[in-house]
Amino acid sequence: VKRLILILGDQLSETLSALCEADKDTDLIVMAEVTDETGYVPHHPKKIALVLSAMRHFAETLRGDGWQVAYTKLDDEDASRSIVGELMRRGQAHGTTEVLATTPGEWRLIEALNNAPLTVTLLPDDRFVASQSEFESWAEGRKQLRMEYFYREMRRKTGLLMDGDQPEGGKWNYDHDNRKPAKEDMLRSEPMQFTPDAITEEVLDLVEARFSDSFGELRPFWFAVTRGQALRALDHFAKHLLEGFGTYQDAMLTGDRFLHHSVLSPYINLGLLDPLEVCQRVEAEYKAGRVALNDAEGFIRQIIGWRDYVRGIYMLEGPDYPARNVLGHDRDLPWMYWGGETRMTCMREAIAQTRDEAYAHHIQRLMVTGNFALLAGIDPHAVHEWYLSVYADAYEWVEAPNTVGMSQFADGGIIASKPYVSSGNYINKMSDYCGDCAYSVTTKTGEGACPFNLLYWDFLIRHRERFENNPRMANMYRTWDRMDEDRRATVLKDAAAFLARMDAGEVA
Ligand code: FAD
Ligand code: SF4
Repeated sequence: VKRLILILGDQLSETLSALCEADKDTDLIVMAEVTDETGYVPHHPKKIALVLSAMRHFAETLRGDGWQVAYTKLDDEDASRSIVGELMRRGQAHGTTEVLATTPGEWRLIEALNNAPLTVTLLPDDRFVASQSEFESWAEGRKQLRMEYFYREMRRKTGLLMDGDQPEGGKWNYDHDNRKPAKEDMLRSEPMQFTPDAITEEVLDLVEARFSDSFGELRPFWFAVTRGQALRALDHFAKHLLEGFGTYQDAMLTGDRFLHHSVLSPYINLGLLDPLEVCQRVEAEYKAGRVALNDAEGFIRQIIGWRDYVRGIYMLEGPDYPARNVLGHDRDLPWMYWGGETRMTCMREAIAQTRDEAYAHHIQRLMVTGNFALLAGIDPHAVHEWYLSVYADAYEWVEAPNTVGMSQFADGGIIASKPYVSSGNYINKMSDYCGDCAYSVTTKTGEGACPFNLLYWDFLIRHRERFENNPRMANMYRTWDRMDEDRRATVLKDAAAFLARMDAGEVA
């Protein structure tokens, strides 16, 4: 064996740069399920099962294509704990210290490989629309790195929804047609579900035996675990759910866990689907006249805009990014995030479906669980570890900018120009949660007042110095200043009492 070709659990792409450079005759592929990776945060059992099953299926595909694959299973007796440990073990057995890999998505692994006593060559990960150097050139010299401008560059680069050098329909962004609340619809399709095969069943048994104490339901398990299945899930989304995607993107409904969302992030992030092919499929639906422009544009923006942009920021900002905490928040993560009781229907719904599906859609993550954590002043690192643990699509490069940056404002505003905070009014407008809640969304103080209403003001006042001169927030401070003084005192007193009860472990 000349070289070891490392393929990580989220690098399951046949066009991976390391695979393209490798030689079937002389190189050995190394894939490893190791406890350091399954255990660095308490991952949701469904997430572990998804990654392990997809890895095992990918290894089968590679063997079928004539590659030599050294695959380590989690329960192999001689397995070491870490990726580097496995590379050393395989290297010793095959008489080589040379390793070729595609650059990992997270700093933790990049550093481990760079510090390994091996000769490691890291190739760029080209499974993004922009390369890292393109992102850096775009970012250089800009005062603010706003996603919208990066997105326009990516539209020009890919030609997606472009009419010559102009955006299709004359506008770059159709968000004003979106943000509509949704109604129950028995005919709405669901994301495509797959029956586990023998490989997946074996993984499910393993995960059940080893990770049954972790937060999250393992079964039923229905994720796609191969590229073929992921392509079918994409096709199903494009045909049955894309229409209405933009319009209902921000809506939330009790019991309707997916609405028009694609649930493709787990597959794209594993490497089973290429982001550009997903966008081209969506564009084709628009071009064929089957979906409206706001639906197609809204979707494509999430991928070539947001997804690529957050990856660029994560790599640009460096390894300390997940530890940032400019607002100095330090409250413990309340037990309700791990399934403890809560009287807030919105939180209960978002967390229950996270436990069952390892999935919640963007607005549930941002405006329910994220919003609450920010308003309540929870330690952003604890919030980051929670999101990284509980979602099937969570890898640090994409999760940390979304959590630490977009949702918790802990990076001081690199990603978000203002904190994503709202009172209960926003949740009431976009969902049907409030009707069934023990709290009253229209009550602003006193017994039964919606906690989001109390904490919203508490947050703004706690951070007045930082935010009152932000032009997008000045209005809120004016509203506060116009309030009767007694009322202001009551709001802050009630917010403090709520937080004290929550900290004391009472059901919030
Ligand atoms: P859809 O609504 O169908 O969107 C289509 C695709 O767009 C997604 O599949 C995804 O690839 C991409 N996308 C949409 N929004 C974003 C975004 N903000 N950043 C990156 N890609 C985006 N996404 C992850 O992939 N992994 C995470 O760990 C993750 N953690 C998040 C944590 C918080 C606090 C927040 C607010 C958002 C997070 N997101 C994360 C972004 C987003 O919520 C998910 O990508 C989305 O909910 C995935 O579901 P979907 O495939 O049904 O998405
Ligand atoms: Fe959530 Fe408040 Fe509505 Fe209850 S009333 S569901 S806590 S927003």
